[in-house]
Amino acid sequence: MNLNNPIYYIRGISNARASKLTSEIGLKTINDLLHFFPYRYIDRTKFYKINELVNNTSEVQIIGVITQVKTVKQKTGTRLIARFQDETGFLELVWFKGHKWIKDSLKINTQYVVYGKLNHFKGMFSIVHPEMDILNDYKAKLQTKLQPIYSSTDKLVNSGISNKVFRGYIQELLQQIFEKIEESLSSEIISAHKLIGKKEALLNIHFPTSPQMLEKAQYRLKFEELFFIQLQLIRKKIIRKNKIKGYVFNQVGEVFNEFYAEHLPFKLTNAQKLVLKEIRKDVASNAHMNRLLQGDVGSGKTIVALLTMLLAIDNGFQASIIAPTEILATQHYYAISDLLKKMNISVDLLTGSTKVKKRREIHENLDNGQLHILIGTHAILEEKVSFKNLGIAIIDEQHRFGVAQRSKMWKKNKLPPHILVMTATPIPRTLAMSVYGDLDISVIDELPPGRKEVQTVHRFDKNRLAVFNFMKKEIEKGRQVYVVYPLIQESQAMDYKDLMDGFESISREFPIPKYQISIVHGKMKAPDKEYEMQRFVKGETQILVATTVIEVGVNVPNASIMVIESSERFGLSQLHQLRGRVGRGGDQSYCVLLSGIKLSSEAKTRLKTMVETSDGFKIAEVDLKLRGPGNMMGTQQSGVLNLRIADVVKDSPILYNARNAAIDLLKEDPNLLKPENNQIHKTFAEISKTSGAWSNIS
Ligand code: ADP
Ligand code: MG
Repeated sequence: MNLNNPIYYIRGISNARASKLTSEIGLKTINDLLHFFPYRYIDRTKFYKINELVNNTSEVQIIGVITQVKTVKQKTGTRLIARFQDETGFLELVWFKGHKWIKDSLKINTQYVVYGKLNHFKGMFSIVHPEMDILNDYKAKLQTKLQPIYSSTDKLVNSGISNKVFRGYIQELLQQIFEKIEESLSSEIISAHKLIGKKEALLNIHFPTSPQMLEKAQYRLKFEELFFIQLQLIRKKIIRKNKIKGYVFNQVGEVFNEFYAEHLPFKLTNAQKLVLKEIRKDVASNAHMNRLLQGDVGSGKTIVALLTMLLAIDNGFQASIIAPTEILATQHYYAISDLLKKMNISVDLLTGSTKVKKRREIHENLDNGQLHILIGTHAILEEKVSFKNLGIAIIDEQHRFGVAQRSKMWKKNKLPPHILVMTATPIPRTLAMSVYGDLDISVIDELPPGRKEVQTVHRFDKNRLAVFNFMKKEIEKGRQVYVVYPLIQESQAMDYKDLMDGFESISREFPIPKYQISIVHGKMKAPDKEYEMQRFVKGETQILVATTVIEVGVNVPNASIMVIESSERFGLSQLHQLRGRVGRGGDQSYCVLLSGIKLSSEAKTRLKTMVETSDGFKIAEVDLKLRGPGNMMGTQQSGVLNLRIADVVKDSPILYNARNAAIDLLKEDPNLLKPENNQIHKTFAEISKTSGAWSNIS
């Protein structure tokens, strides 16, 4: 018997049931079953008397006897009912399925232990499909106080695999293979982190001998799970640094220096300087850079991107920025062209709506090396686009891109270009460690000086008039206003109606010619969107009514109010992004969150968080707590979060410990070749074989 044998090797698991277990909950091998952990435990030391039961008692365990069994026909089908009593009263046991078999097996006037969920109907208690043990058997069997409950499906239960049966399998399994379970960690790590052994942990996770042992078992197994993930991520990072060569940008040349000395429009913040230093160290090192740059909205990532590109140009390379939307790409293009206008650097823009003739020109100039910087959307990633020598690719708002798309544009390169991924969605540290643990991470954690914090308020719909008046006052001062509507895929038609109704009522409230209004939404053609956006950017319109297409990146420093309609329907990170559109100039800015009166408690938390803080990392932490790691940006495809037992949010202290243990280990023994790390090596090799899930980001 070995752990990779199929589960039908276990005594009692028939082939038919084995295939049910595979199709329903994915259990194939004995090892799978061994690592299928209970999701909760119930205390089976407590017995109830029937007269102690109250309406809201949920799961109960009672000792008593069956005095009578009858079959009752009803409209909804036949049911089997047994009268069950102890010395204090009686209740009913009910079965809808398997009558015949159950009826034959029930023994009248024999003491049973009955366990199940208590129902209460018209003064009568009942338990449907109870778990039954004859008292004497129950006493004789190995009983733990904490009884494991495994997640299951209706199909499993209906095919006879109840939790009780499943527990029996696990018991059988442990008896058959217990001696074969091998330790997977080194004794050094085990003692340094005060872990219990693997065998003991597996036994206690299934059948805890005490609550204390259960806790130790959980800690050990979570640690192990996180440890091996970290080991993979960190090892991958080390390999990348040692093996994957990158272009060397070893000189800071004329272009960089001229720009820095003469055209930089402001002093860099310390955070920007620090990040630039990190990047320069990377690109001068002969290794390939793969860096994630996190910086809150408005923290000034663009200038860092530009300076990095100038460094590439100084070393004879081309550079590129890829943005998720046309609006954003266009805006980068204008901003960067403007910054470079006094310099002899060629910059161009390539998007889905670039005309064929222009496109050809771009292709040619990329090919012959005359074009230094290409800014664009995913249009840049098309087959035909090919650089002479791309030195760095900067990806703005990474989460919008599929990872696989990224490799075509550098097909002429000898080496892969350096990659800088910029994101304004702060990723909580624990999540970054588990999902992007193999990337280098830089953070701009400081806003440019002189920014006034955006004042945020929450108002109910019925106070909209006051909001309109406030908008008028600000517009009189020369400011501009965004009004944003949600656009959620499934209910598009309705959302457009909301948007159009809103647009109409705003048009009535803010009539032409005194007021001019732009409107931008997803159904418009790109040139129309662009036209409307530009009117707002140039200050020709005072109000921009939009769906969330403006979410990322749009920069209009004169806009000072962000009104978010139906704000209860937005996620926290979206709200934060939207709010980041204002507060970009010197004026006091405002964010108004409008909502209906009825709010879910989550929505309340979201709006309250927005009102209380503007720190993107704090907001991201709340978001992570509300939604769980599986729903966070960029985690779905990573697979790193398909954890068996650990939870990167709740178990973050264990995560830190496991990560440090992995770092220390790889420092001492990079290839896990020392004899004392033999078991780790073995487990690591097995895991690496089965998981293709670890390759995120280039
Ligand atoms: P984001 O990180 O959101 O992309 P941007 O790069 O668009 O931020 O910068 C936001 C605004 O702040 C821009 O108008 C930019 O010119 C300005 N800015 C960036 N860095 C500084 C700085 N060090 N001092 C003053 N203003 C800055
Ligand atoms: Mg930006």
